[in-house]
Amino acid sequence: MWDLLLTDANLATMRGGRYAAIERGAIGVAGGRIAWVGAAAALPGPAAGLARACESLDGRWVTPGLVDCHTHLVYAGNRAREFELRLSGATYEEIARAGGGILSTVRATRDASDTRLAQQAARRLRRLMDEGVTTVEIKSGYGLDTATEMRMLRVARLLGDMTGAEVRTTFLGAHALPPEYAGRADDYIDLVCGEMLPAVAAAGLADAVDAFCERIAFSPRQTARVFDRASALGLPVKLHADQLSDTGGAALAARYGALSAEHLEHTAEAGVAAMAEAGTVAVLLPGAYYFLRETRLPPVATIRAHGVPMAVATDCNPGSSPLTSMLLALNMACTLFRLTPEEALAGATAHAARALGLAATHGTLEPGKVADLAAWDIDTPAELAYAMGANPLYAAWKGGVRRA
Ligand SMILES: [Zn+2]
Repeated sequence: MWDLLLTDANLATMRGGRYAAIERGAIGVAGGRIAWVGAAAALPGPAAGLARACESLDGRWVTPGLVDCHTHLVYAGNRAREFELRLSGATYEEIARAGGGILSTVRATRDASDTRLAQQAARRLRRLMDEGVTTVEIKSGYGLDTATEMRMLRVARLLGDMTGAEVRTTFLGAHALPPEYAGRADDYIDLVCGEMLPAVAAAGLADAVDAFCERIAFSPRQTARVFDRASALGLPVKLHADQLSDTGGAALAARYGALSAEHLEHTAEAGVAAMAEAGTVAVLLPGAYYFLRETRLPPVATIRAHGVPMAVATDCNPGSSPLTSMLLALNMACTLFRLTPEEALAGATAHAARALGLAATHGTLEPGKVADLAAWDIDTPAELAYAMGANPLYAAWKGGVRRA
């Protein structure tokens, strides 16, 4: 006897990163897992006798719950004033003097109480969940000192309890250079490797370790030091790579067997080939590309040609992508990066799960997987990437429990 049986549903199972659709399908759920998926006609008996609860979805589409695999959701304040200044013609220097930039977010985050951080982030997370997100990755990286980095990760974990979403945490101590280390990046990396990483690992607060490898952030050599330490502590790595210039970030990530390399606008073919070899997922972040009005597109054709799985995420953050809509991220991935709607949806389900190391349990509608489901008022799955500003979510289940 299953706990729940959903019938009269069209299923985009996303098996193998394709729609792999089953029309007039059904899904059985037991113990929070998917127990059965298939055509309703193939059910092993009359629906009423198979499950304690039975719900007809009247022909709606069901997809795996969406996975936002790259966010900086926990931060205090926002940068709307900076946005306004820039659009009024202020220069970078004037904005910095007015207290703008990433360090303004660091200051606000350090000053905020845990309660305030959690309340602000929960509001953003609920907006994602309202559009079918059931799993979200959240990075630290606005504390840049040991205590605040650990606070950010604790708040991120707390958000899971507050909202019912599944939260995967990533330690991003090497995000930017804190003001007290100005001109001493190597000393700061000493702190990240010698104090922060061991503390975060000992407290079990991170599922992965990330760094920002870029001319304006940390060098490949400094990034490698962080990755060496993470690997020694048994933590998987991922990397903000080649967003503004080709620093060889994608190849560096691949060398460490990274779960994912993210942004990739400037990645050359050798980097993509290394990712294919290592099984590293390419995470595309069209929200940042749009908000920063970048012009250099990620090498999607090359990524495709090498068979590297592509994920799509919001990169929700106050400076370069204040985006809390996975559906808009899917639309931008298609309109700006020329992904197909099927690729975009795979990027928000199967491949996003893989980017978080969750490929075995999340991201597709298959027996044995966690019953994270989203039901949509749509006639075809392409509508999820096609419409702008619409939210066709009808219902969502996390581990078989209805959340929306
Ligand atoms: Zn990011």
